[in-house]
Amino acid sequence: MAAEEAGVVIAGGGPAGLMLAAELMLGGTEPVVLERLPEISEIPKGNGLVGQIVPVLDYRGLLDPIRAEATFAGPIPAFSFGPLRLDFSGLGAVGASPLHIAAIPQRRLERLLGERLAELGGSIRRGHELTALVPDEDGVTLEVRGPDGEYSLRAGYLVGCDGAHSPVRKQAGIGFPGITSSEVSRIGRLFLPTAVIAPGGAAVEVPGAGRLTLSGVVRTPGGAYSIMPLALLDKNAPPGLFIVFTSEEDPTATTAGDGPMTLDELRASFRRVLGADVEMTEPQWLTRTIGNSRQAERYRVGRVLLAGDAAHIFGAGGSLNVGLLDAVNLGWKLAAQVAGQAPDGLLDSYHAERYLAGRRALLQTRAQKALGAADEGTAAIRELFGELLRYPEALRHLGEAIQGSDVRYPLPGAGAGLHRLAGYLAPDLRVEASDGRPTRVAELLRPARGVLLDLTPDAAVAGQAAGWADRITVLAARALSTPAVADALLIRPDGYVAWAAEPGGPEPARGLEEALRTWFGGPEPTAPSRGT
Ligand SMILES: Cc1cc2nc3c(=O)[nH]c(=O)nc-3n(C[C@H](O)[C@H](O)[C@H](O)COP(=O)(O)OP(=O)(O)OC[C@H]3O[C@@H](n4cnc5c(N)ncnc54)[C@H](O)[C@@H]3O)c2cc1C
Repeated sequence: MAAEEAGVVIAGGGPAGLMLAAELMLGGTEPVVLERLPEISEIPKGNGLVGQIVPVLDYRGLLDPIRAEATFAGPIPAFSFGPLRLDFSGLGAVGASPLHIAAIPQRRLERLLGERLAELGGSIRRGHELTALVPDEDGVTLEVRGPDGEYSLRAGYLVGCDGAHSPVRKQAGIGFPGITSSEVSRIGRLFLPTAVIAPGGAAVEVPGAGRLTLSGVVRTPGGAYSIMPLALLDKNAPPGLFIVFTSEEDPTATTAGDGPMTLDELRASFRRVLGADVEMTEPQWLTRTIGNSRQAERYRVGRVLLAGDAAHIFGAGGSLNVGLLDAVNLGWKLAAQVAGQAPDGLLDSYHAERYLAGRRALLQTRAQKALGAADEGTAAIRELFGELLRYPEALRHLGEAIQGSDVRYPLPGAGAGLHRLAGYLAPDLRVEASDGRPTRVAELLRPARGVLLDLTPDAAVAGQAAGWADRITVLAARALSTPAVADALLIRPDGYVAWAAEPGGPEPARGLEEALRTWFGGPEPTAPSRGT
């Protein structure tokens, strides 16, 4: 019997796989999503989204449902950079914070992404494990073990969204170089029956340990710890339930150690790090890990691609941000490729852009980790680094590094002539369409089509894009947001600016056609007129 065929198979239905599947559906390609787990994992993983993905989810209409379940969503007034506190109030109003978060437990996020996929007509094959793959020039042959037995699949493209241990990455022979930390981390979700949250919610009083801050990881001579009432992250969490984290140097550790972690082990670690014995009961989940910081050498090898943790892991948070942004970057490109509409090089730009973003995330997370080291030299660097944060530009710089908004995609034609927004996420400009309807960039991008926004007074640019109207939304409008940032913008389906015209420039459409061809291919051939 001939193997079932699919344009795209996604291995892994975690956050990256689900997001990619939804993006492909928006692009007109229905993928087969294989997920070996029969249900969404109940293991408490990510506590929320931090970074550029938060506005990008708004650009897909997904932020409102997330906000309905999150304890907080929006620009955050303060955050931590390793052991340092970033107080963005130094930048002015809260809205000036460069860092966005959405505090939602990962399993809820996965449920919402699964619902979005279903609304778009897609589905996920739960309980189906990819067991083998053989790539060739035209596609990939896959072996799958499902609930009813084994079967074969033939995929045009295979995307490994199958997590840090990615069987796809390994079987495709893609290297995963990086560093393994010499610190052992222990995490527990448990009750602290004697802890009382101090008025204002910034600290917790723990008999025997005193007043412990709730703002991020705290360094001690013995290591580092953090303590967080789950109610800050999960609206439905019962009072008294906490996430407790410790980290201790152990240069001999090359693995996370043997056997499952116990409550006694976590309590002993907390005692060593904090010097206090704290009562802990009713553990819901306990784990022990060694921090890894790695990146795949290639995000694409022929017909095999990687996204999410399969492509990168970071020692200090931010993985969901980078992984979901991978998916948004890849979805429209792969859909165009499968539909035969992708211009040359479009799919390869996925590696060029997202590898760069991954490198930047490695840099800032490794710096966060390094700043926490216990030696005196690092203490001096930490103190001096902390002094630099009194300068608004330094504060903003670090906020943007965590956000990932400092990553400028390397666009063709990059150089002096490029508009300052080109290569960055488009700002959520408010505009009034020529029919008087107010809208904003976030709403225009919801169908995941490219957008040409013509803000010139006489709609001088829109006509130039008429040949691409089958692939992009062309809108002549009046800018409501001030100050004017551009006379026209070409925004890719992933929300990034491909081209923009300076306000008041003499030739507002200059460079537009080249950008349209680069990202969307040639114009639609004009239909021959009758009688010719
Ligand atoms: C304790 C903890 C706390 C964390 N906190 C945060 C946080 O606050 N913020 C943050 O950004 N990140 C956090 N992370 C990291 C975050 O959970 C990961 O970055 C995220 O899960 C990665 O998503 P993914 O879709 O790339 O991979 P995964 O979530 O690992 O999903 C991969 C999926 O692939 C499936 N799979 C694997 N192999 C196969 C196969 N052969 N066939 C079919 N399916 C397969 C797996 O079952 C899994 O469902 C945390 C992680 C942990 C463990």
